[in-house]
Amino acid sequence: MSTNGRQRLVEEKPKMADANGNIAITTAELAQMEQELEQHFAAIMSILRIDPADPNSADTPKRLARMWIRELFRGRYEPPPRCTLFPNRRKVHGLVMSRGIEVRSICSHHWQPIIGQCVIGYIPGDFIIGLSKLNRVVEWFSRRGQVQEELTEQIADFLQQKLQPKALGIVVVCRHYCVILRGVEGDEEQAVMVTTAWRGKLSEDAQLREEFLRLAGMEVPDYVKR
Ligand SMILES: [Zn+2]
Repeated sequence: MSTNGRQRLVEEKPKMADANGNIAITTAELAQMEQELEQHFAAIMSILRIDPADPNSADTPKRLARMWIRELFRGRYEPPPRCTLFPNRRKVHGLVMSRGIEVRSICSHHWQPIIGQCVIGYIPGDFIIGLSKLNRVVEWFSRRGQVQEELTEQIADFLQQKLQPKALGIVVVCRHYCVILRGVEGDEEQAVMVTTAWRGKLSEDAQLREEFLRLAGMEVPDYVKR
């Protein structure tokens, strides 16, 4: 191969990121990825001996390609949501809580759904944030291949940096369908994972954490009370 040819190959190597990472990508690149993915899904189905003439499966490669790129993994390719901040004019210094934020994600390990809810609470510094923005942030990080522990930290780091609150807490409670579908032992109703991230005052003050969990409508585990 000529030096030029090698050079071109190096330049054309696509950008990569962890499953829960984010990369800037053009609309044209996305369309090309979708096309490639469709071909590969067709190949996978053929390996699985699924007859491409099966009317229920005929358009599945196309459907899957679209779904993964434009829906389930779209947080990997979209720019971060804009966070509208407002001045904290009244010097609010109590916890501001947002409950019932939906989490719909995909586990990096098995590519199965992670479904649940998230509670975010903070004590404002100089700013307060538009409520719907919290949902957007959670959605942006969730629409990727995720590990719930890292998802929780990603949301916390992002909000800490944008909002610079005096305290910040995130609690994520989810069901992992890789566990449920594969029939790993355990009561499905009880099989939830709870992860937390605490920043600022909430990482130092056990009483404040207790108040947070009470407002979040969650039981206060003993380790938090100590
Ligand atoms: Zn999994």
